Amino acid sequence: MRRKQQFVWREFRRIGKLLSVDGQIAGGSGNMSMCKFGRVWYTKSGALLGDLKFYDIVSCKLEKAFTFENVCNKRATRESIVHNAVYAHCFGGGIKAIVHTHASEAVALSFQRHEAKGGVERLKLVDAEGVYLFPEGVEIIRVKEKIGSKDLARAVARAFERQLKEYENYASFAAVIVAEHGVFAGAKNLEEAYIVASTVYKSAKLIFNGLK
Ligand SMILES: [Zn+2]
Repeated sequence: MRRKQQFVWREFRRIGKLLSVDGQIAGGSGNMSMCKFGRVWYTKSGALLGDLKFYDIVSCKLEKAFTFENVCNKRATRESIVHNAVYAHCFGGGIKAIVHTHASEAVALSFQRHEAKGGVERLKLVDAEGVYLFPEGVEIIRVKEKIGSKDLARAVARAFERQLKEYENYASFAAVIVAEHGVFAGAKNLEEAYIVASTVYKSAKLIFNGLK
């Protein structure tokens, strides 16, 4: 178990540092999880992603985690209910790791209303990579309880599911902007989830700076 946790810790530590250097998280904000070795591993509640210690990683068994609207480890990030809801719905679709950031520009842009097609509001990305990954834009979710709530968990899981369906056959990733809160990005592993989160972050920055 210790060796497995060490493997996960190294991966969390590597990506946590990147998120911190990028400015996608600040202070004790943001969190991560990944499915590996038959377990879901999470960063602990309040852990500094830019300086993760071995004991900042907690876990629980896959089958325990995959119950919708469930928190299986009380020491895990407050958002673990959201991570678990996504895995409950999208693990089969290829989502096996999640990165949650508080990317300021993406949050800032969420204070405005954006175009909503079929009731789904999206932020249209502008740069080549952003448009390539998200041709329709990135979904914006608006819920009353913005942190660790059942409503948030349901909304993020549904949005991820919708995207996996839209991108069927060529991609296993998804991202959403939770209005006035941050970004959730998921993919088949942590590095890819980081790349997806970064694409949203960089594109939001361009749009935000262009608006000033
Ligand atoms: Zn958050």
